Amino acid sequence: MITKEKVDYWTIELTSDCRCFDCNDCGVGYIRNEDGEKCEQCYKELTPSNSCFDCWKDSKESFYDALEAWRDKVGVTWDLVRIDGVGVGWNRDSGYAVKKFDEALDAITIRGDFRITATWDGANTFTASRASHDEPTGSAQFTFTLIKGRE
Ligand SMILES: [Zn+2]
Ligand SMILES: [Zn+2]
Repeated sequence: MITKEKVDYWTIELTSDCRCFDCNDCGVGYIRNEDGEKCEQCYKELTPSNSCFDCWKDSKESFYDALEAWRDKVGVTWDLVRIDGVGVGWNRDSGYAVKKFDEALDAITIRGDFRITATWDGANTFTASRASHDEPTGSAQFTFTLIKGRE
């Protein structure tokens, strides 16, 4: 059975760092956004894992789940997204990119370290901010807009 949860607010943290943790006592692995979380079984503090069990894939899936919830809410099936950015990079540049729906995340990821916070506020607005070496204050702001494209 597939249960589709009704949500109207979604915030996703994506980071270039590995977010995999282990409970050394239980031998259980977790993917967690914050340090210092506890094992769900023995409540001991988790330690960063030596091996990555594909946390980026996990983050990516959460991102696209949110993006789809947003598109459902807007009520269209358009599969292009325009991403407008301001405060991007060292020069605080502005610009935009158009991506296929399922590649939208590529517009805001960069090489090197970053932390992205994507927010869907329950209405028609989907935004993201990014902090990175050149954007230390999380200055890079992105606004997503669905566009119809050619049919
Ligand atoms: Zn444990
Ligand atoms: Zn990982």
